[in-house]
Amino acid sequence: MEANMTQPEDFNEGEAVAVLTTEPVERLLDYLAPTGGVSIGRLVKVPLGPRQVIGVVWGKGTGFAPEKLRKISTVSDAPAITGEMLDFIKRVADYNVAPLSAVLRLATRAPGLLDPPAKRKLVSLSGLIPAKQTAARKKVIAFLQAGGGRPFAPVELAQFAGVSQGVVTGLIKQGVLLVEDAPRDLPYPRLDPAHKGKALSALQSKAAKALRKSVQSRTYHTTLLKGVTGSGKTEVYLEAVAEVLTQGRQGLVLLPEIALTVDFIARLEARFGARPAEWHSGATMSERRRCWRAVAMGEAQLVVGARSALFLPFFDLGLIVVDEEHDGSYKQEEGVYYHARDMAVLRASISGAGVILATATPSLETWANAEAGKYIRLDLPERFGTAKLPEMAAIDMRSEKMQPNQWISPTLREEMRKVYGEGSQSLLFLNRRGYAPLTLCRACGEQVGCESCDARMVEHKFQNRLVCHQCGATKPIPDTCPSCEVSGKMTALGPGVERIAEEVAEVFPDARVEILSSDLSDSARGLKERIEAIAAGKADIIIGTQMVAKGHNFPHLTLVGVIDADLGLQGGDLRAAEKSFQLIRQVAGRAGRAEKPGRALLQSFQPGHPVIEAILSGDEEAFWQTEAKARLEAGMPPYGRLAGVIISSPKQADAFDIANRLARNARPLLNIGARVFGPAAAPIAKVRDHYRVRLLVKAAKGAPLQRALRLWVRPLKRPPNLRIRLDIDPQTFF
Ligand code: ADP
Ligand code: ZN
Ligand code: ZN
Repeated sequence: MEANMTQPEDFNEGEAVAVLTTEPVERLLDYLAPTGGVSIGRLVKVPLGPRQVIGVVWGKGTGFAPEKLRKISTVSDAPAITGEMLDFIKRVADYNVAPLSAVLRLATRAPGLLDPPAKRKLVSLSGLIPAKQTAARKKVIAFLQAGGGRPFAPVELAQFAGVSQGVVTGLIKQGVLLVEDAPRDLPYPRLDPAHKGKALSALQSKAAKALRKSVQSRTYHTTLLKGVTGSGKTEVYLEAVAEVLTQGRQGLVLLPEIALTVDFIARLEARFGARPAEWHSGATMSERRRCWRAVAMGEAQLVVGARSALFLPFFDLGLIVVDEEHDGSYKQEEGVYYHARDMAVLRASISGAGVILATATPSLETWANAEAGKYIRLDLPERFGTAKLPEMAAIDMRSEKMQPNQWISPTLREEMRKVYGEGSQSLLFLNRRGYAPLTLCRACGEQVGCESCDARMVEHKFQNRLVCHQCGATKPIPDTCPSCEVSGKMTALGPGVERIAEEVAEVFPDARVEILSSDLSDSARGLKERIEAIAAGKADIIIGTQMVAKGHNFPHLTLVGVIDADLGLQGGDLRAAEKSFQLIRQVAGRAGRAEKPGRALLQSFQPGHPVIEAILSGDEEAFWQTEAKARLEAGMPPYGRLAGVIISSPKQADAFDIANRLARNARPLLNIGARVFGPAAAPIAKVRDHYRVRLLVKAAKGAPLQRALRLWVRPLKRPPNLRIRLDIDPQTFF
């Protein structure tokens, strides 16, 4: 499966070739092939004006007069990107109405791709003895002898042996140290598909067999693997991964960033006997470089990564697993707007690969695709082993006696007391970071906002500051109102997780409390340690935001209390009900994963709301049927199409001016029967001193929306500094 390096080049020296660069130039640029020729898919450095820029050889020249062309400066030794990958780049750009160059940037986000040959110098002992021994020289030799022959980079060696670089250089000159060229990127260890599978239950092995079979077909297909939390979806899809490894094709497992834990990697290592390649925002530069190259050469058999791993240049991709496919973090909402789940399906269809969408609570899009027969559906309705689904009930907050500034109802408190008494864990869930969502002046009503964003600042007690959740700006909590200058009237309103923690500390002064919230984790490592501590039973009460919903396994957890089950039901979001349903079911699914049975209690002021009722009754199909019907009637996704247009500018008037011009001149859209709504200020109308205005386009399902959008937006003359982004299938709006 390794790339064949001995084929003749596609273009001989001096032939015109088209290069796609990562620069924001809207077209391909022609260059002459360098000495030795060059092939399609090779990464190159080319002159652009006075600069040297990165690009990829796209095809033959677009027809510029050869005598005017400049030569390609450098060809990277990195393996060529496959034609499938180039096709993918093109189709991602087409679908998301994004510049090709921006998509290429996504696909080349590894450092050093154009560095000279990927070798590094390593030194080891030659056996010669130095002409003159010194203390420093002895240290170096002793260090290498203790290492049992393992070679080191000269810089490292000097550091580890505690000598100056000069000592090492001197020993190299004398021939005491031998220099060798070693590849810079260590190969990944081989994964063994037969290493150590678990014995599957009857239901699990039936699903696993179906998945293995579809991988064997080597054709594109998508399977929805729907199973309650703890049913063994991971075990089952690892069988499909094993199959793809056996075939010698490559596999990719996508996870929401936060679910990419040491735990998960350890699980794969236990299954396949070695660690897979990893790709995520925390990876070091050299790790990224190593991963990118090994993937392109076909040497990395399996990559586990966050959404951007989809843009790695796989040589022969056979399977993509999208775990927790409903997760909102698969949608990228900056730079190129794209949905990694949908682009995974596209990638697989180009490569003749399989896709597995694993989830306990599918997105309505995926559910509908399965209903329509476009996706295969496999269900794992039971938890594995003795673990049972938690029993669920609502706490009717209308009849609970609540004190002011108290958020845990007497009923929930009583249940927590029981669980605490048994030595088990409770989890309180509230999807609000910080101490209080709102700081208000009781004298004049002023709400403290961020100076650069149109967002209210959130009090964080631990930092003793107000924090803007949009841009991260902080300021001290004012004692005097910035507006009316009255002191002592600033009040925190509403609860955040920190405030719940305060209440818990009052009620359970001896309990060990852990908070899981994205802003408290100083580092990814600190967070992992806290999660591991919780899993090991080193906490009694856990308080968390939505980050607790994702994939962690807490065997001692038997009670989940949802502080405000109504929170997600409001707001003009098309997916409010769906998201709320998914989130609460996921959180509730954290309870009772081991032998102990679990309970989930939902505090709600509207326990009769259809979403709350659907969650409680466990009748998921009824929920999706109802949602689907409502969307169908409204012509909304997945039965209609939406696109967002986000216009941002430091000048509000400019943004509105362009938005109004677009709204008035919408002929290309009207021609396909689409409608334009807006302009309206975006939900957060100002972020980092840029004003944002939105338009929303609604079209019928089969309409050629992308083409119309391009015709609509492209010819528009716009002021410098003003940016227009298109958001196909938007997840957040209004
Ligand atoms: P899901 O991905 O559906 O949440 P997992 O695959 O993580 O479920 O399984 C939940 C737990 O049950 C894990 O600890 C897993 O190791 C265990 N488990 C699932 N299936 C089996 C099996 N066949 N044999 C042993 N343990 C299993
Ligand atoms: Zn005031
Ligand atoms: Zn801000």
